[in-house]
Amino acid sequence: MFPSSRERQILNPLTFLKCLSCSTINSRPFKEGDYVFGEVEEKCPKCGGDRMKIVGIYVKEPEQREKRQKQTF
Ligand SMILES: [Zn+2]
Repeated sequence: MFPSSRERQILNPLTFLKCLSCSTINSRPFKEGDYVFGEVEEKCPKCGGDRMKIVGIYVKEPEQREKRQKQTF
């Protein structure tokens, strides 16, 4: 009857970070303490800047249902 902690381990949240220098969005596995719109000190793989802002945290589902839609940013 308890929300099982096992389920949390199966799900694999991804944190999306936006570089404050070059605005590139990078993703990496979720870490404890991450919260949306929080700023973290992480290195941008593109420009080497070390300030990133969390723009989203998404759970990656085990079964991938891909939508064949191309989004242009
Ligand atoms: Zn950058």
